Amino acid sequence: MNVKLMLPLFLCLLVMVPLELMARVFTDIDGRKIDATITQVEGDTVSLSLTSNGKTYDVPLARLKPKDRKYIKEWVKKQKADEKKAPRKDGKQEAAYNFDDPWPALVSIDLDIEIIIAEEDEETKRYVYQSPNYEFVCDVKLSKSVVKKFATLFEATREYCRLLPIATMRAHVPGAQFRNRILLFEHKSDYVKNGGPPSSAGVFMPRGKNGKDVVMVPLKSLGVKKVGSGYMYDHKGSNKVLPHELTHQLTDYEYYSVGAMGWFSEGLAEYVAVTPYRSGKFMVRSNLSAIKAYATEHGKKGRGGRALGDEIQAPDLKAYMMQPYKKFVAKANFNYGFGLLITYYYFHMEDDRSNILAFLKALKNGKKGEKALEVLLNGRSWDEMETQITKAWRSRGVRITFK
Ligand SMILES: [Zn+2]
Repeated sequence: MNVKLMLPLFLCLLVMVPLELMARVFTDIDGRKIDATITQVEGDTVSLSLTSNGKTYDVPLARLKPKDRKYIKEWVKKQKADEKKAPRKDGKQEAAYNFDDPWPALVSIDLDIEIIIAEEDEETKRYVYQSPNYEFVCDVKLSKSVVKKFATLFEATREYCRLLPIATMRAHVPGAQFRNRILLFEHKSDYVKNGGPPSSAGVFMPRGKNGKDVVMVPLKSLGVKKVGSGYMYDHKGSNKVLPHELTHQLTDYEYYSVGAMGWFSEGLAEYVAVTPYRSGKFMVRSNLSAIKAYATEHGKKGRGGRALGDEIQAPDLKAYMMQPYKKFVAKANFNYGFGLLITYYYFHMEDDRSNILAFLKALKNGKKGEKALEVLLNGRSWDEMETQITKAWRSRGVRITFK
């Protein structure tokens, strides 16, 4: 079987992890230079995705300078090592695709979560706690009861992603086989030192010095505060950043392909994050008003929103869906909010979900870009598609005008 080595460039809400983390200037034997990211290596060919426009080109290794060939060799080695370290996270063997399941109305988890103390080492300041599906690696000692309190939001978000019938299989791997890793930092400065963007409250790192597929969070974002010599849980208010980043961690790699990355990968993370949450429960069925308030206004009770207004001037739909991720995050506020509206449309405003599900299946089968979007359009022209989206949202009080 041909194992795909993917290196998606997914980043986050209000977060500008430098793309340079993964991009590099490659030079060919004629001295031509391209700024690109490796997406895959198969045999003697490397697939490079251009930083400027996201287009992917297959380049024979022999066409590249020796130092680039060496870099690619190291990249493959690292990928293989990472795969060995972590059991397959896509869970393909463990669970069947759930595309045929109904959309969840309410996601609810048992609040009595079991917490295991896996390691407490005062010398190295490494404290490791496990909940059923997560492993929290912290730099200070926490009590089981504190971990249990914040672990609820993690476990509930994971359960939400698992129940969404979009077959994101990384949410289906049982914790006994693989726990998602979360790094917790007592000090924001250590979070930043480890690559956390200074203005963020949490971040998903697809790849960093602490490993692959890690979510990093400063303790403060979890509502954990130092009181005397210990730590207390004192969380008030909502936390949208965390479910957003956790959704990224649980989203299958294929859903970060060109054509889906951006509007869908961020739209999905926003969809989960904006769904009303309270004590281990996501109220999915009634999430429309929260989603609308978040995208068009300042959110429910004025707590965080994209404030796009209810008359939205939108770019050409095809250009919007196909734009490189770098461009997408450069206009993050609009693009995230609009991505949420478009994702919501495909989830809930078409006659059935067959188009978006066919699109996701096509992505899983390796289709990308326009080829995958053709499946989503299902015979409709781009103009017709824009008209249908406009009509559907207008009936909900949002007027979208496409360029
Ligand atoms: Zn994000």
